[in-house]
Amino acid sequence: MLPLQLGLPQGRPLSVLAIGAHPDDIEIGAGGTLLSLTQSHVGLRACCLVLTGIPERQLEARTAAAEFLAGADLSVILRELPEGRLPAVWSQVKDTIEEVTRSFRPDVVIAPQPQDAHQDHRTIAEIVPTVFRDQLYLGYEIPKWDGDFSRPTMYVPMSADLARRKVELLHKCFPSQSRRDWWDDEVFLGLARLRGMECRAPYAEAFSCTKSVISL
Ligand SMILES: [Zn+2]
Repeated sequence: MLPLQLGLPQGRPLSVLAIGAHPDDIEIGAGGTLLSLTQSHVGLRACCLVLTGIPERQLEARTAAAEFLAGADLSVILRELPEGRLPAVWSQVKDTIEEVTRSFRPDVVIAPQPQDAHQDHRTIAEIVPTVFRDQLYLGYEIPKWDGDFSRPTMYVPMSADLARRKVELLHKCFPSQSRRDWWDDEVFLGLARLRGMECRAPYAEAFSCTKSVISL
């Protein structure tokens, strides 16, 4: 399939804002994409915003952002909104995201996909299009007990090496999650292989995208 290319901004590096409800969301959903962006865009500007997390997990989020976006011009913003209760603090979530945009204007926003069954993820997905009217919004997917995968519309292919690198970094950066029964290579690589099969690549990350522009 003929791939679409990201149109690059004139006279400045590409800027990407990644938003996660919880430490590890961004890297599970889009870690391979972040690694690819960092490799292919010299001078990439990146901002990771994580809305909830205790100090131990915030430290993991900070470490992970530095690993997955090594070499990028990176800022990491961590907040302590109530985990599992983001719908109840909808205005604070929106205020927090708007506050970030005062100093960081992204070209691409990477955030949870709108059909996500987790209420915290879904709240972010609901707010993103109300804040960003001139950005490409890629909605990532997170494997979970709920079984909430929907049909993706955008795929970022990954080589086998890149997919394995992503999983290695997940294990390295988030040791607090290793005891979870779903945190294993087969879940991460199995999903990536399935998404890869769907776009004729060895592995892939898949995203929802409700609106995009093609420059002909
Ligand atoms: Zn999450």
